[in-house]
Amino acid sequence: MDNSPTAHMNDPTTRRISHWIDGKIVDGQSAREGTVWNPAIGSVQAHVALANEAEVDQAVAAARECFPSWRATSLSRRSELLFRLRELIDANRRTIADLLTSEHGKTTPDAIGEVSRGLENIEFACGAPHLLKGGFTEQASRGVDVYQIRQPLGVVAGITPFNFPAMVPMWMFANALACGNTFVLKPSERDPSVSLLLAELIQRAGFPDGAFNVVQGDRLAVDRILEHPDVKAISFVGSTPVARSIYQKGTSFGKRVQALGGAKNHMLVLADADISMAADAAVSAAYGSSGERCMAISVVMAVGSVADSLIDAIRERAAKIKIGPGDAEGSEMGPLITPEHRDRVTAHVADAVREGASLVLDGRLDPVSEEPGFFLGCTLIDRVTPGMRCYDEEIFGPVLCVVRVDSYDEALRLIHANPYGNGVAIFTRDGGVARQFQFDVEVGMVGINVPIPVPVAYYSFGGWKASLFGDLHMYGPDGIQFYTRSKLVTSRWPDPGPGQVDLGFPQVR
Ligand code: NAD
Repeated sequence: MDNSPTAHMNDPTTRRISHWIDGKIVDGQSAREGTVWNPAIGSVQAHVALANEAEVDQAVAAARECFPSWRATSLSRRSELLFRLRELIDANRRTIADLLTSEHGKTTPDAIGEVSRGLENIEFACGAPHLLKGGFTEQASRGVDVYQIRQPLGVVAGITPFNFPAMVPMWMFANALACGNTFVLKPSERDPSVSLLLAELIQRAGFPDGAFNVVQGDRLAVDRILEHPDVKAISFVGSTPVARSIYQKGTSFGKRVQALGGAKNHMLVLADADISMAADAAVSAAYGSSGERCMAISVVMAVGSVADSLIDAIRERAAKIKIGPGDAEGSEMGPLITPEHRDRVTAHVADAVREGASLVLDGRLDPVSEEPGFFLGCTLIDRVTPGMRCYDEEIFGPVLCVVRVDSYDEALRLIHANPYGNGVAIFTRDGGVARQFQFDVEVGMVGINVPIPVPVAYYSFGGWKASLFGDLHMYGPDGIQFYTRSKLVTSRWPDPGPGQVDLGFPQVR
């Protein structure tokens, strides 16, 4: 049977997606498996093995076995392999993107964009020799030097969500490997194939077997990773309830954990904003990738009289969005990931109407509804207020809520009352107000006339409040810190002068 990640493109009935352990595909032995849909045609295209504890242990053992030699590999060699990986991923952009479209449903341009944003992290990690430089103090005391070095942790694990099956793993493993750790990835069971393609490319780049492993699975695999004594650190990205529980469990087992959660990102549009620019941004950020982005704008806050013209401009643009299979020419918005998720999103729309909000555009009526795939059109809901379910909960679909507010202060109060703090944007022509907003707002990533402020790879990504549990943000400089621990060395070499015993506490002299 052909188990390669692209095999289903020839024969959709036979594919079973397995693990990648110690440099090879390892067929899952547990009797459990998950369903992988082709969301654009609404049919099952593969089954994914769901690991049992023994399979997680096997992956961790391979990573542990590889760790001593990988951490001893020179920095220039590690960097050379990352450069090669960069080239291979670049050369395979389209193949990766096609897999993303096939299992996730996102459009081809969006999928290619995902690969590019992931690639940035490999490029950043190529600078490992520079990033891992420590500090050196000569003559801290007479004849004594002090220096700091950063060392890898050992086996580290990444647990990733369905919405960025290529980029989020790259956020994690690029820096983890660059720092000398070995890695176990537990990807989302909903679109697991890209992880195996990445594993193949990592091997082709020349990384040793065992440096990068993939265990497919669900909660059972995650629980084993959390308690496994050889796993030293865990990076998680997913929904807030799971992030919170992973942070609590992981830290209770003594592990270093960074757990990024969900979001409810507000876009504040002031009366002086360029309405056309704001409407373009709101539509792109709300409906791109069918709203299945943690940095999607899900709430527009229109201040004062701007609301009516802004809503008209958004409706006009959203109504023209071309919905269809991600690989179809001209498609701008693909399907949702599963039928259950589509039904969850439509239930939110029904509840909003029941709770008194007014429906400006109803995505449930979109013309692609005759397609068998999990499509929904763009929904725009006006007169939303806190307390309505569509405002209080993350929907993660193509639904944009409009909250009308009277002032900047009222908008800020609502943003602060929201439990999430991932991203936020302000649209205005007033630099002073924008700067005040940047100063005031309690959110981790802020856009000023930019709707999706995902930081470039040489900064770090992370929200505040219920959008991130842990101290360090993901990738960039925080990523290097997360995947290393600091060691301080104080050294003296015998000098020709007379020595002496001194029982006092060491002091600088
Ligand atoms: P999810 O929380 O359902 O799953 C994420 C990962 O956790 C998957 O690998 C899954 O197998 C595993 N998992 C699920 N339930 C679990 C449980 N009970 N115990 C242990 N592991 C479990 O998230 P998702 O639906 O795949 O992704 C969408 C969510 O991720 C949204 O809430 C979105 O906002 C969030 N997200 C956040 C960021 C960020 O950077 N903050 C980025 C992307 C996605």
